[in-house]
Order: sequence, then structure tokens, then C-alpha cells
Amino acid sequence: MNLGSNNPNKDDKFCLQCLLKEANKGDMLKTIKEHIKKIADKDKSDYEEYQRRLKICLGCEWLSEGTCLKCGCYPEFKAAFLKQKCPYKKW
Ligand code: SF4
Repeated sequence: MNLGSNNPNKDDKFCLQCLLKEANKGDMLKTIKEHIKKIADKDKSDYEEYQRRLKICLGCEWLSEGTCLKCGCYPEFKAAFLKQKCPYKKW
């Protein structure tokens, strides 16, 4: 990552309001998916709720490169927990 560089590497990507899957952070996303599989069903958001939450995060000014700059979480992980909440109560 070359934030602020005048000559960024062509492979460097920086995208605001991106989830990990859009931010070229596939390894982290793979790890997160493995951890999500280990969450007990009773504690896990269902598919529709998970997608609803991620859609809200995608429109949020605090999302940067797959990380919520408000709470430091990876929304793709946090949203999988039914009882977790957005720090701004957006979901
Ligand atoms: S968890 Fe809340 S504050 Fe953080 S990116 Fe998602 S909607 Fe925004």
C-alpha cells in the first residue's frame, strides 16, 4: 500500500467503502469465512440479515478497505454474529 505516494505500484489498490472481497484482501476473507463456519448456528446471522448488514456497511463513510474505521472490525466477520451491533446503530 502506498498511501500518499505520487508513484503507486500498479498492483496497489486502495478503495474506500469496500468490503474485503472488493479490496484485494482475499486471504483475510478466506480466514474470516473459516472462522464464520465455526460460529454456532444459534449465534449466527442468517443469510438475508448478513447481506442486509453488509449492504449498509458498503454505503457507510466509515468503511475503508474492508475495515470499519469506527470500531476496527471487519464487517464481513462482525455481521455474521447475530447479537453484534454496528457502533452507529445502522444495523
Ligand atoms: S459497522 Fe456500522 S459504522 Fe462500521 S462500517 Fe458498518 S455501518 Fe459503518
